[in-house]
Amino acid sequence: MTQPRIIIAIDGHSSCGKSTIAKAVAARFGYVFIDSGAMYRAVTLFALRHNLIENGIVKERELIGLLPEIKIEFRFNSEKQKSDTYLNGENVEDEIRQLPVSQNVSPVATIAEVRAEMVRQQQEMGKNKGIVMDGRDIGTVVFPEAELKLFVTASPEIRAQRRFDELTAKGETVSYDEILQNVLERDHIDSTRETSPLRKAEDALVLDNSNMTREEQLKWVVEKVEEKIH
Ligand code: C5P
Repeated sequence: MTQPRIIIAIDGHSSCGKSTIAKAVAARFGYVFIDSGAMYRAVTLFALRHNLIENGIVKERELIGLLPEIKIEFRFNSEKQKSDTYLNGENVEDEIRQLPVSQNVSPVATIAEVRAEMVRQQQEMGKNKGIVMDGRDIGTVVFPEAELKLFVTASPEIRAQRRFDELTAKGETVSYDEILQNVLERDHIDSTRETSPLRKAEDALVLDNSNMTREEQLKWVVEKVEEKIH
């Protein structure tokens, strides 16, 4: 008997390793992995390049008008064995992870029209199931019917340290305090915005990974998936 293919929704705070878990789970089960945050980041990069953000204020109307001109895709990079994010045909995977985008993405992600368009594209990607998607509103808004929902969290200091290590490993010079500030600010904006605020779906399982290794987390999640598909 072939196993049923399900939708796995992974939500949670910034920089708590959602994507790492989601990628590993997708690889384990041969599912598609979608990093929904990368989509909001790509829209933010587009807005920055078009001078639509000044001192943290987004020129909403102009950005909404340009939404039809924003094409976001994920293309598999066989060298790195992972998907890269493309904005209008250009690989922007590295640029969308840098601080200018991180510092401006939350206000862009509060815009209802931006969210509606991203959610539409995400639902389209999940129509054949067999997908792991991570974000903030996947279990609540994008796939409220997902068979497995996880809510991942860790302390802000641990999350800032992880992001600091990640960026430093890439050779970037960054300040831990600036990153911690960014993590706290994004938590605040993401949890208090009007449209699709970050919150745990009632039926989501909580994974606090502050003191867990990657292997321990993967084992925990794989068990939950297997309970659903067997
Ligand atoms: O997951 P990541 O930290 O890369 O996401 C970047 C930002 O995109 C988040 O801080 C949040 O503001 C926004 N986001 C969102 N809804 C999602 C995924 C990300 O609002 N589903």
